[in-house]
Amino acid sequence: MDKIQQIQDWLVKNKQDMALISDPKTIQYLTSFYSDPIERVLMLVVFKDSEPFIFAPALEVQAIKETGFSHPVYGYLDHENPWKMIADQIHSRQVSENAVAIEKTSLVVDRIEKLQSVLPDSHFDLNLTPFIEQMRLIKSNDEIEKLKIAGKWADFAFKQGFEAARQGVAESAVAAKLEFDLKNEGIMEMSFDTLVQAGAHAAEPHGATSTRKIENNQLVLFDLGTVWDGYISDASRTVAIGKPDDKSMDIYKVCLEAQLTAQSAVKPGMTAEELDKIARDVIDKAGYGEYFIHRLGHGMGMSEHEFPSIMEGNKMELQPGMCFSIEPGIYIPEVAGVRIEDCVYVTENGCEPFTHTTKELQYVD
Ligand code: MN
Ligand code: MN
Repeated sequence: MDKIQQIQDWLVKNKQDMALISDPKTIQYLTSFYSDPIERVLMLVVFKDSEPFIFAPALEVQAIKETGFSHPVYGYLDHENPWKMIADQIHSRQVSENAVAIEKTSLVVDRIEKLQSVLPDSHFDLNLTPFIEQMRLIKSNDEIEKLKIAGKWADFAFKQGFEAARQGVAESAVAAKLEFDLKNEGIMEMSFDTLVQAGAHAAEPHGATSTRKIENNQLVLFDLGTVWDGYISDASRTVAIGKPDDKSMDIYKVCLEAQLTAQSAVKPGMTAEELDKIARDVIDKAGYGEYFIHRLGHGMGMSEHEFPSIMEGNKMELQPGMCFSIEPGIYIPEVAGVRIEDCVYVTENGCEPFTHTTKELQYVD
C-alpha cells in the first residue's frame, strides 16, 4: 500500500484530522524527497480525507516536483510567514482541523507554539512517531538493495583505511584518507563521523578520532559508514599494527567469537534480547563481561537510530526484513579496545550482512 495512504488509514483509526510531518527523514521515507531545510520550514501535511501537500522553501519546490510527488507543493520566500501560509492552505480545504498528530521526537517547542498560534482551534496531542518507526521496521527489497550498496562502500572505505594505517600516521590522517578516497568515487556523505582509534584510545567506545599517532604493536579500531540514496551503512573492524600484546590478542579473539556466534544464530522468531545474550555469554564466559558496556546492536536503515534495539529487555521477535547491527565490543581502560560490527538483514532462515570485509584479524603493515 502507498505509504501516505497508510498514514491516512492511521489517522482514521486514531480519530485524527491530519498529521503535520516535519522530520526530514520521515518526509524522505514517505515521498523520497530529502532535504534538511535547517531553519527554514519543510512540512508534509496529510489529511484523513483530503489531498496531502508539501509546504517547502521556494528554492526546494522544483526538486520536490522532480521526485514525482503527485500532490500539490507550495513554496514560500524567505521574507514570508510560513506558518500563516500553512494554516491558510489547511483552512482552504475546509476540513476538520481539530485533532492534529505530530512527530513529537522531532518537532521543537518553538515550532509547536507557532503552529498553535496559527491553528488556535487545533490540539496537538497524538504522537505519530511510533507509527512511523513501526512502518520503517521491516525493510522492503528496494530498501535492502540500497543498504547493500551503502555496505559495499563501507567495505571500500575499510580497504583504503587499512592501507593508510601505519606506525607514525595520525588517526585523523587515516580517517581523512579513506573519506578522501570515497569522495573521489562520488560517495559524498558518511553516516556519522568516521572513527579511527589506536591502542588504548579504542577503549573509549564513544571517543572521537584524534591526532594521536598510531604506534607499533597496537590494535586500531575503525568504525565507519556511508550514505547511499538515503540509506546508511555502519560497520567496525579492528586491525593489528605489528604484534599487539597478548591481552589485546585475547580480547580480539573473544570479541570475534561473540560476533560470529551471534551473527550465525540469527533466525526469525527469536527475540532481540536472546540474540544479545548469545554474544554476551561468550564474552562473560571468557571473563570480560564487565568490559562489554553497551547493547549488542541497534536497528538501522535510513539512520542508526531505528528498531529493533538488540538488548536485554527487548522481547521483540526478529522477522525477515528487519535490519540491525551486531557489534560486540570489549573495552579495557588504558589497555585496548576491540569492536567488530556488521549490520545484517534477517532472511527466512538466518541473516545476511551488508558488509563483507574479513573479520579474521588483519595485520595491515
Ligand atoms: Mn558502528
Ligand atoms: Mn553501530
